[in-house]
Amino acid sequence: MSIGYVNGEFIPVDKPVIPIDERGHQFGDGVYEVIRVYHGKPFMLEEHVQRLFKSAIAIKLNVEQSHEDIQQLIDESIEKSGLADCDVYIQITRGISPRQHLFPDAPVSITLTVKPMRVTEEAIRENGKTAIFHEDERWANCYIKSLNLLPNILAKQNAQDVGGYEAILVKDGFVTEGSSSNVYMVRDQTIYTTPLSKQILPGITRMAVKNIADMLEIPFIEKKFTPDELLQADEVFITSTTNEVMPIAYVDGNKINDGASGEITRLLYRKFFELIEIVQHT
Ligand code: PMP
Repeated sequence: MSIGYVNGEFIPVDKPVIPIDERGHQFGDGVYEVIRVYHGKPFMLEEHVQRLFKSAIAIKLNVEQSHEDIQQLIDESIEKSGLADCDVYIQITRGISPRQHLFPDAPVSITLTVKPMRVTEEAIRENGKTAIFHEDERWANCYIKSLNLLPNILAKQNAQDVGGYEAILVKDGFVTEGSSSNVYMVRDQTIYTTPLSKQILPGITRMAVKNIADMLEIPFIEKKFTPDELLQADEVFITSTTNEVMPIAYVDGNKINDGASGEITRLLYRKFFELIEIVQHT
């Protein structure tokens, strides 16, 4: 069953609980993580919690709780939900205080939901999704997983409005990442993705895929590429916690190669699920 958690209390997920003067919804003044749970166990939990704290530090959010406290809270929430395959959303904001821009003297708000996993059908994973190119209109600190997602939302909606699934963001003529994913192209059996910088989120799935590529001895090159180069690629795929490894078959109506999942993409997601089976059972 889906459940919610607000500042120390487990609640039904649809119960209205946030006061009007809360920094998260008034300013987007907070950070978050989405963690996927396979077989009752959160996948790459430590990495997610580490990134959550890095994001918090980057916005000068003083979280009193320790990494262990947050991990325990997540574990407890999963157990309470009784769900084995689910998605955990956790956000930490600068708390509840009368609205004004300056940091309040208030404890942070920690809220969380656990909901059933949104499973991708095999056919979609085989056939791939469609994407559009979209101007990257975000700020200079996209490495922070901040609640401020307006440009991401607008880009994703613009993709959907023309029948697309993801917006591949382009800044100064180069692909950065997706509106909610990291982006890769495969050319001559080599994987290319944007190097980590302040301009993109260091995806946890990106980290897993890089490790898998290294293990398989598939070259993994972190180098900027242009939309034109992406259109000429043998394969294009995206990664994220909820998309896992997802092929992109069309971009702006252009077919990528033969317009389905490519060989390397297929290998990567097969190995990704093998990895999950191994680590989730140990
Ligand atoms: N980039 C952006 C902008 C995202 O929102 C996400 C999804 N959180 C990702 C990349 C992928 O990150 P992860 O693999 O950690 O989910």
